Amino acid sequence: MKSRKSSSKSPAPPPALDGTRLIAYATLDTSIPYAGRGSIFAGGKVLGRVARLALTRSGGETFVAYCSQAWNVRAMFGYPSMREAKGSAERHYPGVSRRWRHVRVTQRQVDRYLRAVWKGLECSFCDRRPDQFEKMVARGRRVRICDICVREISETMSGEFAGKPQFRA
Ligand SMILES: [Zn+2]
Repeated sequence: MKSRKSSSKSPAPPPALDGTRLIAYATLDTSIPYAGRGSIFAGGKVLGRVARLALTRSGGETFVAYCSQAWNVRAMFGYPSMREAKGSAERHYPGVSRRWRHVRVTQRQVDRYLRAVWKGLECSFCDRRPDQFEKMVARGRRVRICDICVREISETMSGEFAGKPQFRA
């Protein structure tokens, strides 16, 4: 007889936050105090209380994401383990440990989501998404090239190949 619907009217978190895979999330309300005052910075400014926390993973690191109600990431910090990430979140928001809701998000779901988010903004040469490179140069609306391709191409075009026409796929 457990059909209690979630009382929160907030949207569910997306499968990825800033390109990292969602593991768990927590909704913060006033019953959870904010003990991290003045200790978290976002873009050079002190970050105050947030409405949501998420635990995510990427490249073997676990992240604590401090998010707005609509799951916009305000600040994100990486930890070597899930235990340390949870410990840090608990120090900032005592009691949040009881609130974590774990979700099962596969890498495929993450990729599908990120492809949709970045659709039309991929590198024209390698098809990488903007979350997979640092910089991009665009010419008009249809041709874009990422920094990784620029490096590869500039290596191909210089050095031992200089002067001789080379054709590479
Ligand atoms: Zn590229």
